[in-house]
Amino acid sequence: MKVNVDRQKCTVCGVCVEVCPFGAITLSETSVEISDACTLCGMCVDTCEFGAISLPEVGAGPAEDLASYRGVWVYAEWREGLIHRVSFELLSEGRTLADKRGVPLCAVLLGHQLDGNLAEELISYGADVVYVVDRPELAHFSDEAYGNVLVELIRVKKPEMLLAGATSMGRSFIPRVAACLRTGLTADCTELDISEEGLLLQTRPAFGGNVMATIVCPHRRPQMATVRPRVMKPLKREGRQGNVEFPKISEECFLSRIEVLEVIPEKDQTAKLTEADVIISGGRGLQKGENFSIIEELAQMVKGAVGASRGAVDEGWIPPSHQVGQTGRTVAPNLYMAVGIAGAIQHVVGMQGSNVIVAINKDPMAPIFDIATYGVVADLFEFVPAFVRKIKQDRGEP
Ligand SMILES: Cc1cc2nc3c(=O)[nH]c(=O)nc-3n(C[C@H](O)[C@H](O)[C@H](O)COP(=O)(O)OP(=O)(O)OC[C@H]3O[C@@H](n4cnc5c(N)ncnc54)[C@H](O)[C@@H]3O)c2cc1C
Repeated sequence: MKVNVDRQKCTVCGVCVEVCPFGAITLSETSVEISDACTLCGMCVDTCEFGAISLPEVGAGPAEDLASYRGVWVYAEWREGLIHRVSFELLSEGRTLADKRGVPLCAVLLGHQLDGNLAEELISYGADVVYVVDRPELAHFSDEAYGNVLVELIRVKKPEMLLAGATSMGRSFIPRVAACLRTGLTADCTELDISEEGLLLQTRPAFGGNVMATIVCPHRRPQMATVRPRVMKPLKREGRQGNVEFPKISEECFLSRIEVLEVIPEKDQTAKLTEADVIISGGRGLQKGENFSIIEELAQMVKGAVGASRGAVDEGWIPPSHQVGQTGRTVAPNLYMAVGIAGAIQHVVGMQGSNVIVAINKDPMAPIFDIATYGVVADLFEFVPAFVRKIKQDRGEP
């Protein structure tokens, strides 16, 4: 689907060509031509002072043949040559959904020169079919190439559902895929199910986490959802049977205006918050930047990552890459320790999905205690060193 052009009104001024971020507009002699690269972003509509360009009305397209869409798909994300844990979690959930619907579960693996065992690994975690697209243009992630390939695959194979991780990669290109396909996307889901009518029930926190909203996409396909890492549990790896297929993709899908010049690995491993099993986070209660060493020592002992409230980040005590919350990272580790953090709603929405939350705060009325699994009312400067000493003592360390 593309924007509509009223050729009576178009003056061929070319302003829309300049503003189109997708290079989807070219000038012809009498009007403009819109290519399939149009994502309906609406930039040209807002810019055209002659009112010659308009967005197609929602629902005005040909009625989707919903019954022709079949199967549950999982976008299989990988990093540094390994499948990301969230993909296994999604395969587990996808397996349940596919079985309830009586349809196959497929994984999509995009990349270049990936280890041949990755597809088999996806099968062992529950996929019936793995679609592999292996091309040099996919060696590094780009929204354009990855998005185009996934859109084409979906148009050809017509899955009824697509699940992807709510990771930085998933958040980056899955909305683009949904927009290209003119379908709905529910971001950051924490729960999925199938309704009696066979629709995907997509549940996520809304209104700052105060209510859980369940969203359906009844009129468009595929039904698309991103899911936060560590919310679902992967299936046990087993010797399952499945097929690996290598679908052919149109050459133009691999075109991208992005050229990756160099990949610089993140030096600060502690900033890998979203992956961490344990996070020890510090807030303004730490009083100064140097006191983060208390948190760091504890984090090191339990092989955890160091997080922070925005309060601490704004003080300049720790880089923003550690910030947890609405404007930081969303995390869901097994254990989250909030040390000297008040528990403002903007912080809580980024960590309330954690399995166990331990809050240490000297103020018994601090809101963090409302969501904590275990609360410790204490001065952190007394409690944390004592806690570290106890761990060392139990481990027989000096
Ligand atoms: C649009 C917007 C987006 C935001 N995004 C985020 C976000 O992503 N993440 C985020 O964290 N915040 C965010 N905030 C800020 C948020 O509202 C809070 O201001 C912030 O989280 C407060 O950080 P804090 O709890 O560390 O500091 P404070 O509110 O100052 O709390 C410090 C806590 O430490 C306790 N304390 C003090 N001394 C000790 C001690 N010795 N021992 C034990 N406890 C002690 C105090 O009792 C207090 O509860 C955002 C705000 C806005 C408006």
